[in-house]
Amino acid sequence: MSTRAIHKADAPDAIGHYLRDYDEARRTFDWTAARHALTGRTDPVLNIAAEVLDRPIAQGRGTQRAARFIDRHWNRIDLTYADLQRGARRFANVLRRLEVERGAVVATLLGRVPELFTVALGTLAAGNVLSALFSAFGPEPLKTRLQLGHVRVLVTTEALYRRKVAGIREFLPQLRHVLIVREAPPRELPPGTLDLAALLRMAAETFETVATGDADVALLHFTSGTTGKPKGVTLPHAAVIAQHATSRLVLDLHPGETYWCTADPGWVTGIAYGLIGPLACGASLIVDREEFEPERWYRILAEERVEVWYTAPTAIRMLMKAGTALARTRQFPALRHLASVGEPLNAEAVTWGVDAFGLPFHDTWWQTETGSIMIANFAACEVLPGSMGRAIPGIEARVVRHAADGTLEPIESADEVGEIALRPAWPSMFTSYLENPERYAAAFVDGWYLAGDLARRDANGYFWFIGRADDVIKSAGHLISPFELESALMTHPAVAQVAVIGLPDPIAGQAVKAFVELRSGVVATEDLRSQILGHARRLLGAAVAPREIAFSDALPRTRSGKIMRRLLRARELGLPEGDLSTLEGKE
Ligand code: ATP
Ligand code: MG
Repeated sequence: MSTRAIHKADAPDAIGHYLRDYDEARRTFDWTAARHALTGRTDPVLNIAAEVLDRPIAQGRGTQRAARFIDRHWNRIDLTYADLQRGARRFANVLRRLEVERGAVVATLLGRVPELFTVALGTLAAGNVLSALFSAFGPEPLKTRLQLGHVRVLVTTEALYRRKVAGIREFLPQLRHVLIVREAPPRELPPGTLDLAALLRMAAETFETVATGDADVALLHFTSGTTGKPKGVTLPHAAVIAQHATSRLVLDLHPGETYWCTADPGWVTGIAYGLIGPLACGASLIVDREEFEPERWYRILAEERVEVWYTAPTAIRMLMKAGTALARTRQFPALRHLASVGEPLNAEAVTWGVDAFGLPFHDTWWQTETGSIMIANFAACEVLPGSMGRAIPGIEARVVRHAADGTLEPIESADEVGEIALRPAWPSMFTSYLENPERYAAAFVDGWYLAGDLARRDANGYFWFIGRADDVIKSAGHLISPFELESALMTHPAVAQVAVIGLPDPIAGQAVKAFVELRSGVVATEDLRSQILGHARRLLGAAVAPREIAFSDALPRTRSGKIMRRLLRARELGLPEGDLSTLEGKE
C-alpha cells in the first residue's frame, strides 16, 4: 500500500492558496476574525442568505453566474446571483403571505432543480428553518422526518406528492402548506396543495432579509443512518462562518471559480458545500440533475471546465472500477483541486487521482453534527495518502482515551488508537439532536465533543482513520481497523470495493469476514478468492487477515454512499436489520 507523501511544493502556485503555511495559519486564525472576513461587520446580526446573496451582490457579483443546472439531455439553465436573490425574495414573501411565522420549518422534497435553491435561500432570508429532504425517500422515512421536524411547509413536485406524501398527509397535522413545483403542463393540482409558480408570480421582489443572530437555528439535517436510526441535527446561522472559512482554507475556492460538489442537498454536504460555503466565496456552482454515471461525470468535469471538485469515496471507487482508460478519453485542463468526504478514502484512491487527473484527492473529515470540515488535507500541503489530514485552523482536535474515572485523556502517543474529540465550541457546531436532549448532552464529556469515530494521530498531527466505534473489530486481543484491512484488500487489482466485519468466534473473540465487490469484467472464481486471501495474508499477517471472503455484486450502502457494515453484520447473524430508511435502492 502506498502511503508515500505526495509533495506539492513544486506545483505552480499561480492561484495563491488561502492556506500556504499550516502552522502559521493555526497560529494566526481566530473565529472572530473569520466572522469579520465574511460579514465585514461586528454587529450581532447574521443571516446565511444575506452572506451568500445580499453581500456578494452588494460587492458587484449580481450578474455573475451563481449556478448552472444540467439535465439529462444536456440542457443547461444558468442563474446569476441576482436571479437567485430575486427568486429567494419572492419565496420569502410567499412565506409571509401564508403567515408562516419566523422559526417554522420549511422542507423541500425535490430533485436538484433551480427551485430547490431559491426556496432554500428564501427560507433562510425569511428567518425560517430549512430542511432539504432527499427526494428518493419513500413515504415512511418521509413521515418520520416530517413529524420529527414539525415541518410546517413542504415544497415538492406533483409526482412526488402523489406518490409519497398524499397517503401520509393525515398523519401530519402540523404540515400547513404543500407548495407544488409543476413539471408538466398545468392540470388540476392535488387537493390541499398550492401552485408555487402562481404564488411566486404574485409575490414582490423586494424583501428585507430577516435580522437573525448567530445562534438562531437555520438548518435541520438528518444524518445518514449508517450506524442506526437517522438523527435530526440542527445548525445555527453562524454555521456560514465556518462553511465559508473552510471553503477557502480547505477547498481553496476562489471568487468566480467553477466548482462542483456532487453531494445531493438532501445531505449536509450538499447544503454546506453545495450551496452555502461556495456562494459565500463567490464561486459558480455546477449542479448535475442526473445520477452518477462515469462517462457523464467525466464529460461534466471536462466540458464545464470544473476547477474545484468535491466528491465522495464511493464515487471515486466506482470511477476506479470503470477503469482509468475511460478517464483518459477526456482532458481536464481547468481542474486544479480535488477533495473527498463521507467515508475513509483509501490510499489507492488518493493516488488513482494522480493517474486519472494528475492531481491527488484531498481527504476531509467531518459530520452532520460538526456542520463544517474539521480535519483535512490542504491544497498547498503534502498529502499523506490514507490520512484524513490535520485539524483545520480554529479547531482543536485530538484522539482521547476514556479513563476509568469517566474523564477523558488526550493521547500523546502516535500509535495508540482513541476516539476523535473536538473542543467546543466552533461556529457550525450543532445545537441539538431533535427530541433527544439526553443524547445531545451525552455527546459532550469533560469539555470535549465526542465524535464516535476512532483514529490515531501521528506526531505531526495527521489523523489516521480506524473505523467507527461500532465497526471496530477485536480479534485475538488485537484491535483491528476495518479501514486498514479494507485498504489492504483494495490494493489487489481485482478488487473494486470491500467491507469487512467482525463475527463472533469462540477462540479469537471475533473473526474477520470480508465482502468484496470485483472490478468490471472480473469473474468471481474460487481461484480468485484464494488469491485475494493470500494477498491479504501477505500484507496483513495471518492474525489480522480475513478468515473468509464473500463476493458481493453490490455492497449495501446508504443513499449518501456509505457502506452499511451494520447491515452486513445483521444479515450474517440473522439479527433484525434495523432502520433501513436510508438504504440505497429502497423506497
Ligand atoms: P449516522 O450518524 O446516522 O450513523 P453518519 O454518521 O454516516 O450516519 P453523517 O453525519 O452523514 O452520518 O456522516 C459522518 C460520518 O461519516 C463520520 O462520523 C465518519 O464516520 C464518516 N466520515 C466522514 N468523512 C470521513 C472521512 N474523511 N474518513 C472517514 N470517515 C469519514
Ligand atoms: Mg454519525
